[in-house]
Amino acid sequence: MFNALTMDDYPLTLTAVVERAQLFHDVDVVSRRPDGSLTRTTMAACVQQARRVATALAGLGVAAGDRVATLLWNQVEHLEIYLAVPAMGAVVHTLNPRLHADELAFIVADAGDSVIVVDESLLDVFEGFRHIHRFTHVVVVTHNDDAPQGMWDYRVLAERAEPMSWPVLDERSAAAMCYTSGTTGRPKGVVYSHRALVLHSLAAALPDALGVSARETLLPVVPMFHANAWGLPYASAMIGARLVLPGPLLDPHSILDLLVRERVTMTAGVPTVWMGMLAALDAEPQRWDLTCLDRLIVGGAAVSRALIEGYDQHGLRVIQAWGMTETAPLGTVSRLPVGLDEQGSDAQYEYRIRQGTPVPLVEIRAVDDDGRPIERDDSAMGELEIRGPWVASAYHNGRGSDSFTADGWFRTGDIVRIDEHGCIRICDRAKDLVKSGGEWISSVDLENRLMGHPAVAEAAVIAVPDERWGERPLAAVVIRDGMSVHPDELKQHLSAHYAKWQIPDRFEYLPEIPRTATGKFRKTELRQRFASQTT
Ligand code: AMP
Repeated sequence: MFNALTMDDYPLTLTAVVERAQLFHDVDVVSRRPDGSLTRTTMAACVQQARRVATALAGLGVAAGDRVATLLWNQVEHLEIYLAVPAMGAVVHTLNPRLHADELAFIVADAGDSVIVVDESLLDVFEGFRHIHRFTHVVVVTHNDDAPQGMWDYRVLAERAEPMSWPVLDERSAAAMCYTSGTTGRPKGVVYSHRALVLHSLAAALPDALGVSARETLLPVVPMFHANAWGLPYASAMIGARLVLPGPLLDPHSILDLLVRERVTMTAGVPTVWMGMLAALDAEPQRWDLTCLDRLIVGGAAVSRALIEGYDQHGLRVIQAWGMTETAPLGTVSRLPVGLDEQGSDAQYEYRIRQGTPVPLVEIRAVDDDGRPIERDDSAMGELEIRGPWVASAYHNGRGSDSFTADGWFRTGDIVRIDEHGCIRICDRAKDLVKSGGEWISSVDLENRLMGHPAVAEAAVIAVPDERWGERPLAAVVIRDGMSVHPDELKQHLSAHYAKWQIPDRFEYLPEIPRTATGKFRKTELRQRFASQTT
């Protein structure tokens, strides 16, 4: 056997990313405070600050492997902690402030968080769960007031500390953790290794993935507490791309102002954010000069054709991506294949509403009810399974072990069709499919078609029990301001694409669709509300 020595076994740790970020003296990091004012620093200065923050946290007793919780917006201090905590050998645990206090209490206890860093504007959220879990120390990022009694001031602590020299770490050690959004059941913790986040950053930066270059200015609207803001902070620290962090002001006008002012080239977030922004753009198309903006990465929920077309009309490109907390999160990206460059727009739109092909190093397959791989014929449906270097192999504390197959794949719970090129189309979450008379109906397809009707702002389709058919689809719709539409017209609109049995019998008109803390339709709530009622 040929047993030569090969290459340096250089560890793939975020320390290498942090060290490199130190070179970026002229790469801006812009951050908006809760009062709307902007602060400006550089990536290199963030690393310097991260070294001090690390020493300060070590002074509070944070040791290797300890979890440091954050209750912060997309803000520069969050970036500093993203850099400091993993590089010092501890684990950054981002908390979603929009969750219910009981859920947060469960999450911090389950993770066993030690220190927590809270933005001043989120202290009341913190008050909601602080009694349930004993944090060793509380650090506050202040803006107006002094840190409350018994809590540390983030900047004062850092100022007093010496810069840390980073320890040598194992690439398989934990760097960060995040909890699944938990539309059903208790949230489950996902722990990211250094190696996973380094490789994820490299893959995310590839031109046909998110395409992060040193010439870009990135504005992640997707929160840093939602699956690492899709890897954008680490990717920009690795590549040296300008970063604009919008703080808590996420209404369409505030985002538009920042996009224009900072000449942002790429932004990212869930469809809800972009629906609101599109309405603002439609209302005043001349008001914002977005000529610098090259693309919007949209994911986290299905992207409708109406949304893509709407932005096309403003000369803005929507690119859909699919991922999960469990996949760090990048799984697939929908970039037009070369062969479609010359095709008419219908063919292109049909492609762009798909979730796309896996990024390099990620493998996918879909299996039927018996666990057999389905054909890649774009017709058979099956549950998507995924594996790769940034896909979870377990949940924290051994929960949800049935989500992992014996041969090393993660079961996503998403039902897909796959074409011969490996491009996926999500038809539903496993639990969101409607089974009527033994036949599956895809609620996502129906929602997209309904949202294509000019009077419909939003639509969510759920299954409701039906004596005769087992289940029937019910559509909850939000009508655009100043418009009206009769259910018969919506049925008529759908009949061009669906068989009669696939069309919802009931339409419920709502002022808004209830949402999860990450902006997805909360279908569980709709089911509770409508499942028992008959019309
Ligand atoms: P989370 O872990 O909160 O990011 O949720 C992951 C889930 O969001 C996936 O399993 C999908 O059901 C859904 N999701 C993410 N991206 C997309 C997308 N582009 N289209 C449809 N569903 C998506």
